[in-house]
Amino acid sequence: MSDFYKKILDNNKEWVEQQLAVDENYFKDLSKGQNPPLLWIGCSDSRVPANEIIGAKPGEVFVHRNIANLVVHTDINMLSVLDYAVNALKVKHVIVCGHYGCGGVKAAMGNQSIGIIDNWIRNIKDVYRVNKDELNEIADEDKKFNRMVELNVIEQVFNLAKTSIVQNAWNINQELHLHGWVYGLNSGYVTDLNVNFSNNDDLDSMFKLNF
Ligand SMILES: [Zn+2]
Repeated sequence: MSDFYKKILDNNKEWVEQQLAVDENYFKDLSKGQNPPLLWIGCSDSRVPANEIIGAKPGEVFVHRNIANLVVHTDINMLSVLDYAVNALKVKHVIVCGHYGCGGVKAAMGNQSIGIIDNWIRNIKDVYRVNKDELNEIADEDKKFNRMVELNVIEQVFNLAKTSIVQNAWNINQELHLHGWVYGLNSGYVTDLNVNFSNNDDLDSMFKLNF
């Protein structure tokens, strides 16, 4: 067994002991159920841990992560998480959290084929397509990259608002707020992009569903 593999198993035992030292019913209580107020849709990047960033304990945030925090309407994995979060757990907030320095966004801005992931990343190229006038105005490559990260988050929040799951919740007057954030890898702070939806009002009429 490699040292690393042994280490993470040992870490688990240590962590259990630490939790139980503080509260002997910690796991017993958690096993009774969950009632998180928030669904987090973030990037798979190992440096963007959902719980730690917002100081959430186990049980406080329902999490879905994929490369470049995308909301793709044919992604049955994401849709299943969203459906369960909204309709079973009744979360009140959904946050799409991107991050500066995102490798997925960087790859989308380039031309190198890197395998099957090309097809996933292709979704991010649509963010460029709908924002190219703004992006082409930015000469500085780092600034353009940062803005692309932000625009990707904004687009994914719009994609969330367009799902039948979210629109149905609003249709029955269920409280549900969508937000877009960007996390700074080099600062630890998140920036709220102020792209907020709490109803259908800001969607183009073509995207509004009647139930
Ligand atoms: Zn990323």
